[in-house]
Amino acid sequence: MFEKQKIKNLMENYPLLDDIKMSKTVLWLNSKKEKKQPSFEQFAFEEVVDAEQRLKRFSSYIKAAFPETKQFEGIIESNIKEIPSMRKWISERCESGFTGNLLLKCDHALPISGSIKARGGIYEVLKHAEQLAIENKLIDYNDDYAKLNEDAFYRFFNRYKIAVGSTGNLGLSIGIIGAKLGFQVTVHMSSEAKEWKKHLLREKGVEVIEYSSDYSKAVEEGRKQAALDPMCYFVDDENSKALFAGYAVAALRLEDQLQEAKIKVDADHPLFVYLPCGVGGGPGGVAYGLKKIYADNVHIFFGEPTQSPCMLIGMMSGLHDEIAVTDIGLSNQTEADGLAVGRASRFVGKLMEPILSGCYTVEDAFLFESLKEMWKKEHIFMEPSAHAGVYGPIAVIKKGNSYLEQNNLQMENATHLIWSTGGNMVPEKQKQAFIQKRYNELVE
Ligand SMILES: *Cc1c(COP(=O)(O)O)cnc(C)c1O
Repeated sequence: MFEKQKIKNLMENYPLLDDIKMSKTVLWLNSKKEKKQPSFEQFAFEEVVDAEQRLKRFSSYIKAAFPETKQFEGIIESNIKEIPSMRKWISERCESGFTGNLLLKCDHALPISGSIKARGGIYEVLKHAEQLAIENKLIDYNDDYAKLNEDAFYRFFNRYKIAVGSTGNLGLSIGIIGAKLGFQVTVHMSSEAKEWKKHLLREKGVEVIEYSSDYSKAVEEGRKQAALDPMCYFVDDENSKALFAGYAVAALRLEDQLQEAKIKVDADHPLFVYLPCGVGGGPGGVAYGLKKIYADNVHIFFGEPTQSPCMLIGMMSGLHDEIAVTDIGLSNQTEADGLAVGRASRFVGKLMEPILSGCYTVEDAFLFESLKEMWKKEHIFMEPSAHAGVYGPIAVIKKGNSYLEQNNLQMENATHLIWSTGGNMVPEKQKQAFIQKRYNELVE
């Protein structure tokens, strides 16, 4: 906990904290962002290229183990699509109107685990499995990895354990792929985690340990317990470079998708990307990759619930993981379970300093309104967390005038990309409850 004086100093240095503390919606602009391509010591782009190649090696395994991925040749990827009816709804909420393209990146429909975590989480488990199999001379890099789906490999991996701390979706991804390969998986779930996610994992033979405390505690406990067991590999959501690299691969694929759709990104055609942010790894990885590709022509904003703006306060104060949202009196209570993180990753926050344009906050009530509208107008179901992306264009167009002017951006030619981060795994009953009930009925 912070002492009073320290909070007082912070409030004086960062007046925006007044509004944040009162859980108003804000837009924070990052003054540390750099125009030139930053060079990073902490993380090299080669790791992303390496990840893309590894995922290709594994595509025949993925195809064999998850037949639903056959049509994508075992590559776990989502489409981009226009959402014309929703565009109107969003435009009505931007006071000065909305110009340019609007696209949705459909990670809610990612195969296998239905959220952005399918990229990073599945990648890290595959990387670990490959390393074990190579070290034990069971495979060679040039082999057809489809054979990893055979019983002999299941029995081999079954000697090993994997653990992870999660608010839900990362646990789902790690649990599903880990159990499929044969690993003994333990998921340390924070209090937000939905009952159906725990149930689904237990059905797959995953051990789920529940905590009455928040995400940071679940991760800490998981890390501690895993460290005691030499057979156990811990997927560290706060610090993992493999996870980050897996997420970043999305940027390479998006570049191809935009080219295919003949959508230009250059000095006269800015690309705006809006990503829901929890601990930071998912959106951070994507942002890192996009910055490498589009340099100063991409403008990336992270969205967080008004009660959980951990990346915003961590980056603004430069304190990163040394400050939690509860230190300034926020509750970290939100129906956006994937974003209920009180303390951001320092690894990601530091990497984002020269990259990120800013962070905005969004109310839970908006997430639910947007959820219903997206269903009604586009017949797309996205979980509440994912709707933090939908608020992005509204926040930036309404409150980001100084940014748009300073950068002299041609907004008529802009493309706005809302990154939809999850939804497909939500069971039908829960979906219907989200769609039919009003926000205040859900929270009661
Ligand atoms: C985890 C998650 C995010 C955010 O990713 P982080 O790596 O925690 O920042 C966003 N949306 C959904 C649906 C998620 O599950």
